[in-house]
Amino acid sequence: MTVPTVKLASGYDIPQLGFGVFLVPADEAERAVSEALEVGYRHIDTAAIYRNEEGVGAAIAKSGIPREELFVTTKLWNDRQSGEQPHDAIRESLDKLGLEYVDLYLTHWPTPQKDTYVNAWEKLIEIRDAGLSRSIGVSNHLPEHLDRLVAETGVVPSVDQIELHPALHQADVLAWAEANGMKIEAWGPLGQGKYPLFENPAVAAAAEAHGKSPAQIVIRWHLQRGFIVFPKSVRRERMEQNLDVFDFELTADEIAGIDAIDPGDGSGRVGSHPLEVN
Ligand code: NAD
Repeated sequence: MTVPTVKLASGYDIPQLGFGVFLVPADEAERAVSEALEVGYRHIDTAAIYRNEEGVGAAIAKSGIPREELFVTTKLWNDRQSGEQPHDAIRESLDKLGLEYVDLYLTHWPTPQKDTYVNAWEKLIEIRDAGLSRSIGVSNHLPEHLDRLVAETGVVPSVDQIELHPALHQADVLAWAEANGMKIEAWGPLGQGKYPLFENPAVAAAAEAHGKSPAQIVIRWHLQRGFIVFPKSVRRERMEQNLDVFDFELTADEIAGIDAIDPGDGSGRVGSHPLEVN
């Protein structure tokens, strides 16, 4: 089974389907990531604030998988955006991960009230230029933040990692991405289990038609919409299931039915709003 890749503006390829480790406890991360690597995942999404980078790194080291076959993302936490702090933060993350570079480094939230996200972006550009991250991007940035990053630095993020699932499409960010050559990473791709996606008739009908689980249908929706996803599960059978989505295709009608789940008023959001995280 080969996971397709998406070409980033940086020129590097990212596996379109990966494994996320938000809320995977530090003492469980090594086991979970080891299993994910055994199952076949080669793209791991972590963050300094998840406090499990050491476990991720231990699993990578023990796997024996050549570094160039892995794609590792981590993120700069909100309290390290100012001054030279991003430089300290990436070195700490690399140390915990046991890596010489990450594939993708992201500013986790814009935290607009602090007004340090442009500085953070300038430091990420330096971090990329120093070879500590091959590609750089942002997370939870809205078009107004993205416009400012580009106006002040001229550098378009390779990705914006945003909450995105059938109940929250974020059309304005998608339009910005399309216009500027930025890729979209969907966090909470399954609605974090908080939005009733799996019971939705459009999802359930497609699951029945293809002999797949509702989670597999939602993951397939993301892939066919072109998003990069990394659903999280600490259970091996779900890790396997979430990767087993390359032997069927949703029809245009099925995609349209799943698209229609979004209430259109933002009420499908299950996580925090970017303007409210500071
Ligand atoms: P998710 O949408 O991937 O949902 C995870 C939950 O879905 C699991 O806890 C499990 O309960 C359930 N699940 C997983 N596979 C299933 C299956 N096959 N069948 C039934 N239920 C299943 O939510 P997430 O973990 O928040 O998002 C994925 C990743 O995105 C995270 O692990 C993290 O890497 C990233 N993330 C980033 C941000 C950010 O601010 N940048 C925020 C949240 C998450």
